Amino acid sequence: MAEFEPQLNNSASKTTSPKHFYDEDSWKTPTGFELAWFSTGCITLLISLAKSLIIISRQSTGFRGWIEPVVAAILGYVLGDLGTGIYHWAIDNYGTAKTPVFGSQIEGFLRHHDHPSAITKRHVATNLYVGAAGFTIAVLPMNIFCTNPNLLAFASAFLGCGMFCQQLHAWSHTPKGKLPPLVVALQDSGLILPRAEHAAHHHQPFDSHYCIVSGVWNRVLDKCKIFWAMEMILFFIFGVRPRSWSDLDSK
Ligand SMILES: [Zn+2]
Ligand SMILES: [Zn+2]
Repeated sequence: MAEFEPQLNNSASKTTSPKHFYDEDSWKTPTGFELAWFSTGCITLLISLAKSLIIISRQSTGFRGWIEPVVAAILGYVLGDLGTGIYHWAIDNYGTAKTPVFGSQIEGFLRHHDHPSAITKRHVATNLYVGAAGFTIAVLPMNIFCTNPNLLAFASAFLGCGMFCQQLHAWSHTPKGKLPPLVVALQDSGLILPRAEHAAHHHQPFDSHYCIVSGVWNRVLDKCKIFWAMEMILFFIFGVRPRSWSDLDSK
């Protein structure tokens, strides 16, 4: 949120300083590549929704036929929050800008710690195209070959969280007065990431509140020190220290 002004220099994010992270003019106009993936992701989501509705309406189970897909979609949404937490934790703590496939994501998340309000200024396609690409690659084949509405509903909701989480994340950084009333209501209800919930992540060493869909998993993950346990396991097996330990040391 705009209230989070740059407050620190995350040690690992100093490794590179590409111009595009600071060129606000370039953020306002998405590239054709970003627009193409974003559009493809949205179309894939619509196809998935349409196919699920067609399959369910063709069944002769009446109202009962809707219950399982709806429950599957809710389950996908809830677990999607957990998925974004695990991904965010991994990206924040391991790898560098030069890591294959994930390098730009790692760099982007670390830059975000230094410049948290930048995400609110980028075009939606620029923020979401990576998630949209992942969603398309995973869900489009399911749309073609899968005829199970429960599986389609679960996968669409779960992977849709990955596609749209950066928009929910951006809204959590946006001042309340600049958000549509519906978004504020959803944030206040906890159905999407509340601003205060995500604000708790933006403190050195950035080692908590990783989930960015609704944040519903944050409390249990942080209270039970799940990520700390995973970091210890990885450290003892591979000898790799997470970035948050270095940030804690420097602090
Ligand atoms: Zn982070
Ligand atoms: Zn953030």
